[in-house]
Amino acid sequence: MTEATYLDGNAAAGALSELFAVDITAAITRCAGCGHVGVFAESRVYVDAPGMVARCVGCEGVLLRVVTTGEDTYLDLRGLTYLRVSSS
Ligand SMILES: [Zn+2]
Repeated sequence: MTEATYLDGNAAAGALSELFAVDITAAITRCAGCGHVGVFAESRVYVDAPGMVARCVGCEGVLLRVVTTGEDTYLDLRGLTYLRVSSS
C-alpha cells in the first residue's frame, strides 16, 4: 500500500479564498482531536480525496473539508476547536 501524498495548507488557499475574505493560510488553528495549535499553512492538504481535506500534523485528524458540487460549496470545520485570524 502506498502512502497518500499531501501538500501543505497553501494548496488550499485558492478554494478557501472564495469563502473567506482573509488569508486563511496565515490563520491559527487548534485541532479538536489532539489540541495541536499551528498555522493553517502547515496542515497537510489532500486534494485527491472527495473534495479537499486538511489534516492535523499532530494526529492526522481531519481539520477541514471543502467540497464543491455544482453551484454550492460545503465547508466542514468540525475538526477545529477554533480558527484564529489576526486583524492586524
Ligand atoms: Zn490533531
